[in-house]
Amino acid sequence: MMLDKIEKLSNILNESYSEKTLNSSLNEFFNDNFAVDNFNLVLADSKNIAAMHYSYPLYKHKKCLGSLEFSNTNDDLTKFLDICSQFISLKIQNILLNDKMQKDVNYHDTMKNIAKIIETQYELKYIIPIIGEMLDKFFEDYLIYIFLRDESTGVNVLSFPNACKDENIMNIIKDLKENISLSEGKIYALPLICENKNVGSLVAKSTSEEISPKDKEYLEQLSTQIAITINRANVYAEILKHATLDALTGFYNRRQLEVRIKQEVSNAKRQHAPLCGIMTDIDYFKHVNDTYGHAAGDLVLKSIAKVIRGQLREYDIAGRYGGEEFSILLPFTKINEAEMVAERLRQTVENKVIDISKVAPDSEQKQIKITLSLGIYEIKEDDREEDLMKKADKALYQAKNTGRNKVVVNYE
Ligand code: GH3
Ligand code: MG
Ligand code: MG
Repeated sequence: MMLDKIEKLSNILNESYSEKTLNSSLNEFFNDNFAVDNFNLVLADSKNIAAMHYSYPLYKHKKCLGSLEFSNTNDDLTKFLDICSQFISLKIQNILLNDKMQKDVNYHDTMKNIAKIIETQYELKYIIPIIGEMLDKFFEDYLIYIFLRDESTGVNVLSFPNACKDENIMNIIKDLKENISLSEGKIYALPLICENKNVGSLVAKSTSEEISPKDKEYLEQLSTQIAITINRANVYAEILKHATLDALTGFYNRRQLEVRIKQEVSNAKRQHAPLCGIMTDIDYFKHVNDTYGHAAGDLVLKSIAKVIRGQLREYDIAGRYGGEEFSILLPFTKINEAEMVAERLRQTVENKVIDISKVAPDSEQKQIKITLSLGIYEIKEDDREEDLMKKADKALYQAKNTGRNKVVVNYE
């Protein structure tokens, strides 16, 4: 009789690959063979321990793996368990080991996939949802939120999923320190840090039990990989930006400027609209570099670029033509208006005091002033595209030759 039951148990153990199926198969087995009304397999790390009338602990190598819980018992059952419980323990140990290995495999896959995203995507608006979905899949019982840090405001902005109605999470994110993770009940919030820079935060909220130490470890390691990926995407975006913008002034670089000149000239011709070009060149700029150093020279370039931007309308275009030469395009602008813009610009630069004390600490002179020469030209119907700036440059040349710090119009 006993042998028969041992064989049945052996079959059950052979066919069970998860805690759940083992539990239900054992339930049926104890019901049928030992007249047990109610049975439950409880693992050691489980929180929902429903202790029943009779509890039989399961040990393996002196480690308690959990217990078999019975609503009622009898001599046959205890005898059977004394002989067979070790087989159940072995099976449970295998299942736990398997679960752990499977989770580790999934973890390494997730890690690898996050690192690989950058091979096909570099825009964060595409990358973040992909990462979010990967994490959702890996942490089945957690809700995952990814926030990206807005560089200009330093505020964490929700990026995945589209919305978060959980006020708790939004408050935690507000209070989250630059580089300290926060564990609050079922919520775990981590800053995303790469190369000592905070690029956002990752939040997991459990929908069932509290977040386990092992999962916190997973989250921490994944957050490192996510931060690296975000950082790489930011670097790519930066590189892309530099391809069209000048790094020092933020103006269009020469290449992009040529593109915009072409567009604006063709627009103006098609619409028979006026278009003016202004070429500017800083007066005696070499002197600034030679006297106060290149850092001061760079600061002057930045300051002038800022002045120019401040004087222009939104749809006017400014570009760095060369070293200390800026080009300006004024669409829908006639020559007399352009002359007023240029004159205003010249005066603003002339009156601007530039503080160089930070970039030239050794210089006795803390503040300097500089001047600008400007040449203007309005494009004509039969002009070629390259004539706009060439003819503005001709006027600039004249301004340089007749005293500098002045605006000259080419009426050609
Ligand atoms: P002028 O008004 O007659 O044109 O005199 P200038 O001194 O401006 O003469 P020039 O145009 O020949 O000199 C331009 C100088 O601008 C030479 C170069 O070293 C400097 N320069 C060009 N690009 C940069 C830059 O990005 N940073 C700094 N600091 N200097 C630059
Ligand atoms: Mg020059
Ligand atoms: Mg110059």
